[in-house]
Amino acid sequence: MTKTERMTTALPPGSTIGILGGGQLGRMLSLAAAPLGLKCHIYSDVPGPAFDVAAASTVGAYENTAKIRAFAESVDVVTYEFENVPLEAAAAAEAVTPVRPGPKALAVAQDRLEEKTFIRGIGIPVAPFAPVDSDASLEAAIHAIGETGILKTCRLGYDGKGQVRIKSASELKPAFESLKRAPCVLEGLVPFAYEVSVLVVRSISGEVRFYDLPLNTHKNGILDTSTVPSPISETHAARAKEMAAAIATALGYVGVLGVEMFYLGPDAAEPLVVNEIAPRVHNSGHWTMDACLVSQFENHIRAVAGWPLGPTGRHSDVTMTNLIGEDVHAWQALAAEPGAALHLYGKPEARPGRKMGHVNRVKPRS
Ligand code: AMP
Repeated sequence: MTKTERMTTALPPGSTIGILGGGQLGRMLSLAAAPLGLKCHIYSDVPGPAFDVAAASTVGAYENTAKIRAFAESVDVVTYEFENVPLEAAAAAEAVTPVRPGPKALAVAQDRLEEKTFIRGIGIPVAPFAPVDSDASLEAAIHAIGETGILKTCRLGYDGKGQVRIKSASELKPAFESLKRAPCVLEGLVPFAYEVSVLVVRSISGEVRFYDLPLNTHKNGILDTSTVPSPISETHAARAKEMAAAIATALGYVGVLGVEMFYLGPDAAEPLVVNEIAPRVHNSGHWTMDACLVSQFENHIRAVAGWPLGPTGRHSDVTMTNLIGEDVHAWQALAAEPGAALHLYGKPEARPGRKMGHVNRVKPRS
């Protein structure tokens, strides 16, 4: 098939999906592709959990555009499993083969200021924010946001990293210094009741489907649990889905998009506020592996391969719990636990804060 044909036609079984990134998300994408007769080829700067299960793998720098181009030539479509893929790498691949989701989603998700400006620009609420990138901007930011907030680096922050809480105006400058004066945004604190996320999948023809919204809890800045069903009302869940679909459509998105939201409660003037987006399968969607007919991973594969989307309905109630660092040492007890589906990522060392696996505790639907 030519590139033009691959832009509009479903890739037949036997085709190969190239994945930029070799972590656990690439591993679970590769596992989900196999039952559809599709193969995955991983490209990563270091060998990772995905290498154990993919049909092919390449180790190379993301900056090595010649190598990225050769990789793209060996596959039928390229996707990615982390949002910090350099834009040059995505562009090098796109010169050869379709890249889904497109580089626009990457560009927006890589920079908090760009992300928030984009989301607000399409009429969707985000936390109040102001740029902090110089001494001169510190005062303006306090003036706009107030004295309490969170200073976040625009780039490369994840799992609570690159963030400092501010409780008074005098703390802002030291916080900016502690983040090495990297470009930041100061965000106002959102008085949320709880956090939810929307996992939306969009096909090449623009069809969108949603999974049920999980309620997400965090420990030490890292996702701890995702529980479905969440207590959010049907009306607010529908609004959350509408917001996520608007973002996916405005990005011309293809694949699974994770949209993290704060839920402020039924009486808030603005009950739902977007925190951030993840242009990939998302940790808060891992429960779909055992509580849905078609998981977020399979639906991402279907979407990027141009296939019809699969059902997103849920047949069970479930709580997903991440296994972080030494949590994984309980694997034997978890493997013996009734109603628990264990997923381990095969990482060699259980370092603190490292995502080693997750467990889905499944119950019949209430
Ligand atoms: P993030 O890395 O932006 O997802 O932030 C990590 C966690 O910090 C979120 O999941 C929230 O629990 C909390 N958080 C981040 N931003 C805000 C905010 N503007 N207001 C209140 N809590 C926040």
